[in-house]
Amino acid sequence: MTPEVIATVVFAAVGLCIGSFLNVVIHRLPRGASVVSPPSRCPNCSYQLRWSDNIPVLSWLFLRGRCRKCGAGISVRYLIVELLTMAVFLLHLWVFGWTVLMAVRVAFATAMVALFAIDLEHHLLPNAITLPGIVVGLIVSLVVPPGILDSILGTLLGGGVLWAIGEAYYRYSGQEGMGGGDVKMLAMIGAFLGWKLVLVTLVLSSVAGSVIGVLVIAVKRGGMKYALPYGTFLALGALAASLVGDRIIAWYLGMYDF
Ligand SMILES: [Zn+2]
Repeated sequence: MTPEVIATVVFAAVGLCIGSFLNVVIHRLPRGASVVSPPSRCPNCSYQLRWSDNIPVLSWLFLRGRCRKCGAGISVRYLIVELLTMAVFLLHLWVFGWTVLMAVRVAFATAMVALFAIDLEHHLLPNAITLPGIVVGLIVSLVVPPGILDSILGTLLGGGVLWAIGEAYYRYSGQEGMGGGDVKMLAMIGAFLGWKLVLVTLVLSSVAGSVIGVLVIAVKRGGMKYALPYGTFLALGALAASLVGDRIIAWYLGMYDF
């Protein structure tokens, strides 16, 4: 094995471990519990998991998705989040190579996976992720793209656009349309990706929302009431914008370059 292959395998394993930690974050953060202690327990019988029950993917497969002690089912979500996080890690390595920007974007993507899953399950976008996310995004933009000026504009645009839409909707209808969590999440996306990719994120998340919305209506035959929370689409749009947004912009501008 070449050093490159070994490094990639180690990187994938780190992705699985971070995915395993994300499962804890997704489960505990919306419940206001600490993400570091106490050790994980079976929700059914309170059996305290040993280190051998906590190995990403392998433990789940070996125990066939059941608690070792009482046999209660363990959600396949744990497996999916671990594999998804590993895939996200490898995708970033493929796109950015071994660079500082790759490390920054992987950290950003990890937060997006957490927000995606928490919004999907709890319809929440915790401040504990989005607010530090805005600060970290601004700070790292001092040394990596999009650069600090672009990052500040992205934060203002991201926070401002959704805030304005929500405010207009509220004045018009008297109801809260857009949650404050969406506003802070898009501000965080702007801090990490800059103002251009905030626009790309908005376009991509609208497309994802429309496609999934049409699919849901087609499958459920008119079940318009079933709506995925907006943060899940923002997370998908931001991941795509982070990975290929610059190429999308170049392609779009190229269309008008006669
Ligand atoms: Zn149990």
